[in-house]
Amino acid sequence: MKITQLSVYQKNLSLKDPYWLSGGRLKFEVLDATFVKVETDSGLVGWGEGTPWGHTYVPAHGPGIRAGIETMAPAILGQDPRKVELVERAMDTCLPGHLYAKQPIDLACWDIMGKAFGLPIADLLGGKRDTGTPVASSVSSGEPDYMMDIIKQYRDKGYIAHSAKVGGSDTKKDIERIRHIEANRLDNEIILYDVNRAWTRREASIVMNAVSDLGVTFEQPGETLDDIAQIRSVTTSPISVDETLVTLQDAARIARDGLADVFGIKLNRVGGLTKARRMRDIAIEHGIQMFIMATGGSVMADTESAHLAQSIPDAFIRACWSCQDMLIEDIAPGSGPRCVDGFITIDDTPGLGVTPDESLLGEPVAVYR
Ligand code: MG
Repeated sequence: MKITQLSVYQKNLSLKDPYWLSGGRLKFEVLDATFVKVETDSGLVGWGEGTPWGHTYVPAHGPGIRAGIETMAPAILGQDPRKVELVERAMDTCLPGHLYAKQPIDLACWDIMGKAFGLPIADLLGGKRDTGTPVASSVSSGEPDYMMDIIKQYRDKGYIAHSAKVGGSDTKKDIERIRHIEANRLDNEIILYDVNRAWTRREASIVMNAVSDLGVTFEQPGETLDDIAQIRSVTTSPISVDETLVTLQDAARIARDGLADVFGIKLNRVGGLTKARRMRDIAIEHGIQMFIMATGGSVMADTESAHLAQSIPDAFIRACWSCQDMLIEDIAPGSGPRCVDGFITIDDTPGLGVTPDESLLGEPVAVYR
């Protein structure tokens, strides 16, 4: 089987509500999404999506995905999409780094492989659990009561996992937020306090030590892995790393040096499923639990995360994240798994299990053949 054509689509996905990152320092209203249709000489077609969370959050860029695909297209055409590691090597040789540009191609290849073998991607990744994965809500930073109200709204919809955004220079307010939310947390609820790099080392130390009796988990409490290592040395609360978990070497360092207890694997950032599954295996081998997320995007990106999440044993999966309900437009109505009662569940549909409505994507911005 050979890849014969790549069609690239660009779509602006508007958020229903503007979103403020931890510390209130960055605002997001529209996501620049790239959709890729990969066609083969077998007639099988695969779809991928790459949607960074804007271009100010981490080093990733919507136009960069499309420029990367233009550069890599000659190396991708002619490859057998079922041989995902050969495609991976071809892309890495042709364009070192730029992992976020490779993820949509990687996803489309997994989609085709699943269709070729008649299995959902989660089964190709080793086998899926029978049960779905809890979806984490995303709770914007604000006054403690305001944050608790958001958690209650999600709780009423069945959500048991919540990612509450904290961070910034007002350490007293963060301590107040965390104590208030924990005082109102239900026994079965999983709450992650996501700092999104918004603390200095000093602020991290103050807040984390002030609530160390609660045993709550903090995500990305510092900017870099060196910052995390220093924060780790002066605090005892569990730590999750996501923004600075980019390469397999990062994963190996975090595991070996004991920098974190949870991996937050974001598929667009790490370059797709082929690379992410190795991080999953390092995590399991080291007793590290996982949050699996797209960086953002449609039901297609959510479903990619849900496949990887459902290939992870119960003891190691914390939750995944779903962006589809934050968007105004649905590019694949009636297709793919939806978040039901706070869980997302992969069925036995071969491949990704989502096909976009092409009429909603407009004309391709580039076609390579
Ligand atoms: Mg995070």
